Amino acid sequence: MRQLFSFFTLVLIVMSCSAQNNASSSRINKNTNYSERPKLVVGIVVDQMRYDYLTRFYNRFGEGGFKRMMNEGFNCKNNHFNYIPTYTGPGHTSIYTGTTPKYHGIISNSWYDKDIAKSVYCAEDTSVQSIGTLSSAGQMSPHRMKTTTFADENRLFTQMQGKTIGIAIKDRGAILPAGHTANAAYWFQGKEEGNWISSSFYMDELPKWVNQFNKKHSVDAYLKEWNTLYDIATYTESGPDLNNFEGGFNGKETATFPYDLKKLQKDNGGYDILKGTAYGNSLTADFAIEAIKSEALGTDDFTDILTVSFSSPDYVGHNFGVNSKEVQDTYLRLDLDLERLFKSLDELVGKGEYTVFLTADHAAVDVPSYLQSVKIPAGYFNSREFSMKVNSYVTSTFGASDLIKSISNNQIFLNREKIKGLDLDLDDVQEAIVNEIIGYKFIDKAYTATTLSSTALPVGIEQLIQNGFNQKRSGDVVYIFDPAVIAYSKTGSTHGSAFEYDTHVPLLFFGKGIKHGYTLKKTEVVDIAPTVSALLSISYPNGNQGQPLEFVFD
Ligand code: ZN
Ligand code: ZN
Ligand code: ZN
Repeated sequence: MRQLFSFFTLVLIVMSCSAQNNASSSRINKNTNYSERPKLVVGIVVDQMRYDYLTRFYNRFGEGGFKRMMNEGFNCKNNHFNYIPTYTGPGHTSIYTGTTPKYHGIISNSWYDKDIAKSVYCAEDTSVQSIGTLSSAGQMSPHRMKTTTFADENRLFTQMQGKTIGIAIKDRGAILPAGHTANAAYWFQGKEEGNWISSSFYMDELPKWVNQFNKKHSVDAYLKEWNTLYDIATYTESGPDLNNFEGGFNGKETATFPYDLKKLQKDNGGYDILKGTAYGNSLTADFAIEAIKSEALGTDDFTDILTVSFSSPDYVGHNFGVNSKEVQDTYLRLDLDLERLFKSLDELVGKGEYTVFLTADHAAVDVPSYLQSVKIPAGYFNSREFSMKVNSYVTSTFGASDLIKSISNNQIFLNREKIKGLDLDLDDVQEAIVNEIIGYKFIDKAYTATTLSSTALPVGIEQLIQNGFNQKRSGDVVYIFDPAVIAYSKTGSTHGSAFEYDTHVPLLFFGKGIKHGYTLKKTEVVDIAPTVSALLSISYPNGNQGQPLEFVFD
């Protein structure tokens, strides 16, 4: 009986093992079958896009752009940044690396570098040369980004056979997403040039198709009148065109439509004026479509990655504010540019053969002076006054001047050598500053570097501060403002905080491997990279902290 039992047990074990083998081998087959993967992944970042632009302008969108993504794809309606500062450099990096400044090291757009005692820009690299311009605008690379992007992991996985191309008007919007191993990143040089340029980090000279594109100079066609796409009277989803909360262009009295860009370019940086208009998105789409064609993206068995960042909405938002007619028109026109891009992908790569996601690098606050006018608490922080006050406090308290080396990005960098030399305790100096500045108007919270690197702050805004804090690169004291308080001009919008208006951004997926649906479950921007990695069955970026969003998969 016992023998019989063993025999049957053995048979069962063998059967179940072989069943498991079959299951896992069929899974392996499926995963290693290149035809199961999208031929192309297109990552789209809309610079400064708030989540509510999708809903506020929904009825004004056509069927082929934002709505196509929503109606065919998956909409993560409660998607947020999980660190501060909510700026462009860290934003693009976090989307593509699946981690936060704490690990990827891009702590801001520019920051005070403690080692060389001066401010550095996130993408600048003087060890490389400009390609396609005689200016220094091409001396850029991702070398300050410490971790890999999912595009890097795709390059490693495909033995460098899958291509990566990054495109944006802003250099950092093109360079950081594409990663360390990109075939190319291109950004737009305005001024008197109006060309797409690159860096010797990627290439010795521009490819033929880029030279031809630049030579055609189709950009000139956009130096025309910018008026609203539809009758401005129908733009009921934004504030009046003429108000006290908008900046405007040099050489025009009011920030009102129409704008004669040909005439205004002279006083607004030549071709740079296009960056700050809806046409900046069109010229980005033009170039992206040309790249898909000329680089034959998505046409072989190795998945390619195209990263496109639409930078112009950020310039428009900074200038006119999130409630402006100019922002509304920018999004209605971007919708048409997206439609054009998706149609080209259908034609060139094939419907259902590619996967797209769309998100933003941060959102933005309503203009505080506008909020004040409707009785919502808001304000303007005076950085100069703050600097004078805190410097004079430190000098009188510790009997030494220049103990503060830099105040930037809501962080105070101390002169650690001098503090040591004076036999002061670093913790005491940090603590004293926190206790001083927490009494200042508009400062809501302040933490020392010691607290941030020794105590886990697991929830809320405190967690966002910690996720943005890089022990090696960040300052000695971090402080944050009250809600809707910004250090900025009284016109236009900005961003950078841990509040919902800066953290809540769209996240849409559509195309191959993606099901139709939506969720209100909270997702984080760092979940995007592991989700794409899971879709491609490749390794996650090496610093990844996010979770794949399995509910978006078909
Ligand atoms: Zn941005
Ligand atoms: Zn206006
Ligand atoms: Zn911005």
